[in-house]
Amino acid sequence: MRKKTLWILTMMVLCLVLYMIVVSRMESGASVIFPGSEGTFIRTDGVNFSDLNVTPEPEPTIDIWPKLTTQDFENNTYLQIVNNNNLLSSAYEPEVSKIARTRYMMYSTEYMPELDAFLDAIEAAGFEYFIGGAYRSYSYQAHVYNSKASQIAYELAGGRTIDYTDPLYAEAAEAAKSITAPPGASEHQLGLAIDILDRNRSRIVYSDMNQELYAWLDEHCAEYGFIKRYPTRKLLLTGWDEPWHYRYVGKEVATFVMEQGICYEEFYAHYFPDFEY
Ligand SMILES: [Zn+2]
Repeated sequence: MRKKTLWILTMMVLCLVLYMIVVSRMESGASVIFPGSEGTFIRTDGVNFSDLNVTPEPEPTIDIWPKLTTQDFENNTYLQIVNNNNLLSSAYEPEVSKIARTRYMMYSTEYMPELDAFLDAIEAAGFEYFIGGAYRSYSYQAHVYNSKASQIAYELAGGRTIDYTDPLYAEAAEAAKSITAPPGASEHQLGLAIDILDRNRSRIVYSDMNQELYAWLDEHCAEYGFIKRYPTRKLLLTGWDEPWHYRYVGKEVATFVMEQGICYEEFYAHYFPDFEY
């Protein structure tokens, strides 16, 4: 009988000790374990509880695009977009003057100081260069385009000269559009574009040209307000692969376009959501 009492007493003492241990652990607040979602368990220490019914405030987004209105694009020719869908009229003739270090290349008189600063910087960086193209009038572009169309038509007709009314000529004229810009579709008519080559070349093959020059141009052109207008990687958006063609758009826009790695069509589309390219 005394043995049984002793045993019960021992068990009671053990239970008390166990109870004391549990209570002391809970008071210290350490590692109370709750069942979490999907059968996992999360420890309360290290988890911040939040009210799931409250939708968090969205992070404020900062608009990094230059603050331009559609009016700015209309009022400033240096922001004008020119391509196969956005043609310049035959009457568009900017005032141009001869580029000082060329024999007969012309450029916008208004933006000549910006071009000069750009060319001075290329020279100061120790590069040789050659201006392979600058201002081209509507009629000159028409001449270049028609020559290309006639040449293709001649080939399509199997070495026979055909008339403009021949259906084959229309086919040739369409094919020529992917080789030479039709009149009105060339940015050179704006007087704000130049083709910068490493030297005078009769045939332009980009990979053969001084890549150090183009690396420098791409890094610094925006400082003078110029963009690389037809980078190879944007061929499907611009229609042209002319990595030597640079165009003036002003420092703010140029810096943005070059830093973001976008082409001018992408830039333009941000301000004109209906723009198609
Ligand atoms: Zn060009």
